[in-house]
Formats: sequence, C-alpha cells, structure tokens
Amino acid sequence: MDKPIDPELLHQCVKCGACTSVCPVYRVTGRESLTARGKIHILSRLVDPDSAVYSDILSKCLLCGACSEVCACGIDITRLLISARSSLPTRSDKHFLAKLSTIRSLGSPALLSGLSSLAKIAGKTLRKLPLDSGLRRKLSFLNPDLISQSHTRNQNLLVRLQPQKNKKQPTKFAYFAGCLATHLYPDIASSVFFLAEALHSGKIDKPSNQVCCGLAAMAGGNLDEARRLAKKNINVFSSHSLPILTSCASCFSQLKKYPDLFSNEPLWYEKAKKFSARVMEFSSFFHERLKDASAFLLSDCHDLKKKSVYYHDPCHLRFGRHQIVSEPRQLLTKITKQPPVELALGPQCCGQGGLFHLSHPDLSGDIFSHLLDQVGQTTAETIVTSCSGCLLQWQQGQPSNGKTYQVKHLACYLSDFFTEAS
Ligand code: SF4
Ligand code: SF4
Repeated sequence: MDKPIDPELLHQCVKCGACTSVCPVYRVTGRESLTARGKIHILSRLVDPDSAVYSDILSKCLLCGACSEVCACGIDITRLLISARSSLPTRSDKHFLAKLSTIRSLGSPALLSGLSSLAKIAGKTLRKLPLDSGLRRKLSFLNPDLISQSHTRNQNLLVRLQPQKNKKQPTKFAYFAGCLATHLYPDIASSVFFLAEALHSGKIDKPSNQVCCGLAAMAGGNLDEARRLAKKNINVFSSHSLPILTSCASCFSQLKKYPDLFSNEPLWYEKAKKFSARVMEFSSFFHERLKDASAFLLSDCHDLKKKSVYYHDPCHLRFGRHQIVSEPRQLLTKITKQPPVELALGPQCCGQGGLFHLSHPDLSGDIFSHLLDQVGQTTAETIVTSCSGCLLQWQQGQPSNGKTYQVKHLACYLSDFFTEAS
C-alpha cells in the first residue's frame, strides 16, 4: 500500500468513463479532474508532487469505492489513491492541521474521551453560527444535544442490563465498538449488549484498551499510524480466538483490511490475517440470531412498526470485498413487517467519508443534500443505518427548516423493538 505507485497500473486505465457516472464528488461538482479517471490521469502526468493543486485534487475523494466497483479494468482505485496520499508532503496539504488533530485524537483514547466534554463548549458556539457556516459543519460532530441523548439512552439500557450481569453465561464473542460508539454515542454499544442478552447470544467481551480501527489515519495517507493502531488492536484481541463483532460498517471494512497494511511484515501479516478472519459485521451477525427470535418479533410495537423506514447503505458495506446489503434489509423487513423504502436511483453516498466531511464540509453538504432530496421523494419517516460515520452525517446534516427524520443506528433501532416488547 505504501510502495511507490507502479506506472504500469496508471496506464491500465482505458479512459472508459464508467467511474465518472458513479462518483458522488463528480455528481455535485461536474469536475472531470475529481473523478477516478481524472485523478489517474493527473498521477500519470505528475511533474510536481509538491503542488498544492495536486494534493487538493487527491483530497477531494470520499474513498467510497464506487469507482473501483465499476472499473472495467479492475483497478483498485481507493488503494491507489491511499498510496498517492501517503506520499504527499504534509506541508502542501491545506487541511493538514485539521487532519493531524483528528488523526491524533483518534489514535488517543484519552483525547477522544475529552471530546464529550468539549462538546458542551462547542455546542454554545455551534448555536451562534449561521446555518450555512462551514465552521458550523466542521464542529457539528460535537453536537451536545445528540451526544447527551445517546448518553441518557445508554444509561437506561445499562439499568436494564444490570440484573443480567451476574448470570453465568459463556463468553461467545468479542466486541469492537469503534471510536464513535465508545466516546460519543455509547447507546450503540449498549444496544449491541442489550440485543445479545435478549437473543441469548452469550456474554460479550469488550476489551477496554482497544483503539481506533485506523481508517482515518489510512485514508489520510498516514500508513505508519494505521499500522500502529492495527498492531495494538490485534494484540488487544489476542487473548482468545472468539469472533469479533463490530457495529460500525467503516470499522468493519478497515478491520478486514488489516492484512493489506502488512505486506512488508510477514509475521504481522499472518497475525492480521487471523484477526481479520474473526471479524463479523453487526447486521449479518444478528440476522442469523433473529431467525430464532419470533417471540419478540411477534410482539406489538405499534408506534415503531407504523413508521416507514429508509435503510441507508454505508458505502463500506456496498462496495469492496465484503458486501452486506441484503441482511440489514431482511432484518428490518422481519421486525417491521414491511420492506424498507428504496430510492428511485438506488442507494447513494451520504458524503460523510470520515475526514472528508471535516476537510470539505461544503462538498460533503452538497452530496448529502442530493441524497436528502432523493429520500424526500419517498414515504420514509425514519432513517436507519449501520455505520457510525453515516449516522453522524444523517444526524447533523438535516436542515432545521425542512422535513426532518428520526435517525437511528440499526442496533439502537432493533433494541427499541426489544425494549418495547419485553
Ligand atoms: S472513491 Fe468515490 S469519491 Fe473517490 S473517485 Fe472513486 S467514486 Fe469518486
Ligand atoms: S472505470 Fe477504470 S478504466 Fe474506466 S476510466 Fe475509470 S479508472 Fe479508467
């Protein structure tokens, strides 16, 4: 991944343009240079890698993987772009400080846990900023109202879980929560525990010293940091060989990619291969277990069932090696007794893209507005997704002057059914 880019690879592009038709950045900008084809062309003609224009073009990509999926020549474009980003001189990156501070925070649990407190201060600032302010969008992930709702819901779920705590059950799987479910939205993690309890799936081991999956570092081209975080997580989960469940689609995709980080370190490559083979995604895990949970599902949860649901596919589950699109829909159909609504144009990217929404808030907002328009043409009242990043975009990006939706992580949505039914 951090080897110099093979010029042969760049010449494989036959300029067919298939990638252009699916690129969310191209859809809102119309700029050819921002498509995969455009970026590959620029990489193949690169004269000055220190150019700020070059780093700006490379940064305007969500790494969503839509282009790799349709590429006629099978070019792994996201991998190529990560390699290109890893060779960028940081001084030419105008978003360097924002990126650095975010990556540092993600790599440090202590700094991340401070974000919840920072949210209280940021919230006061947020409310004073105009609705269309770029700074407002950058700070919006610290929205104190949403964070405090999550903490309150988390407390309620924990109270319900308390009586079960002393029950002797074997530990059946381990849980990788990810940064957002650990520090900002703890009700996602407690919902996973609650569901495992309700479905008698066994006890969960959640190692407290797990760290960020490393996706943000990798997307920013900081492969050394991505490797450091991966090694830490591999070690943390090495005391047993239980399956590792994660409720975040982005973390899932990154944990599955750990072997790619170690092509030059055979020992770690083997460890990473074993680790990533144990990783399981939330919706496919609970889809299996819900097959035997008819007692709960037949219960009347009228208010929840009446609402029409739109399931937002995270790009990390829509494209790439591990695609999971039918399981969440089947789960939702089973519990609501009706399939989730679909968009006329099919699933769309929300524009969050990890650090992308921080470094390019306007572009991110435009991509989200396009999606919002599409969803507005459906009967959807509730948005459900299985990626913490997409959840953030949906929770923060809705205009205060238009139609708003209830937004839930799939784990929280399912646990609401169980809480009502039990
Ligand atoms: S990864 Fe996504 S945003 Fe980036 S060039 Fe490909 S389609 Fe466009
Ligand atoms: S789809 Fe692949 S081959 Fe076609 S233009 Fe895009 S990158 Fe080149």
